[in-house]
Amino acid sequence: MTFRLAIVGRPNVGKSTLFNRLVGRKLALVDDQPGVTRDLREGQARLGPLRFTVVDSAGLEDATDDSLQGRMRRLTERAVDEADVCLFLIDARQGVTPTDEIFADILRRKSAHVILAANKSEGRAGESGYLEAFSLGLGEPIRLSGEHGEGMEDLLSVLMPLA
Ligand code: GDP
Ligand code: MG
Repeated sequence: MTFRLAIVGRPNVGKSTLFNRLVGRKLALVDDQPGVTRDLREGQARLGPLRFTVVDSAGLEDATDDSLQGRMRRLTERAVDEADVCLFLIDARQGVTPTDEIFADILRRKSAHVILAANKSEGRAGESGYLEAFSLGLGEPIRLSGEHGEGMEDLLSVLMPLA
């Protein structure tokens, strides 16, 4: 049995960097400008013994009009609706932002299983952001660093029972 994992979160939290690490190729564009991934990209991920489909979604923006932000939000909702598991990233260095909270509200209403991760957690700079993440009400977050490959064992252990 395999499953479909959607990586979701606002722009610039590190979704594409983590996607590329899981897929082992640079399929997704990584940029320090927020909002660079404007489409859904999917690839076959390998993590320990697991093989699964991973989707890199655009970030959610609080907009409902037909702007680019609205489109990114719809793409994100679609990614979530089509996924078995959502990996919701926040930036541990920035802490929980109002946009993260809007996102958490949407995810709580969805039926997909949600894994919360405090990304960019390498070093000590992410410690308070990690603690703030508990306030989102989505369970215990895991500490990740997509860029440095840290926390991948913790990700594996929460995904294992779902496979
Ligand atoms: P996305 O917009 O959510 O897809 O984010 P990206 O993957 O494009 O990354 C946005 C920025 O955050 C880039 O400058 C990345 O190099 C940086 N970044 C991504 N992952 C990490 C991480 O684990 N730690 C740190 N410190 N920076 C990261
Ligand atoms: Mg991206």
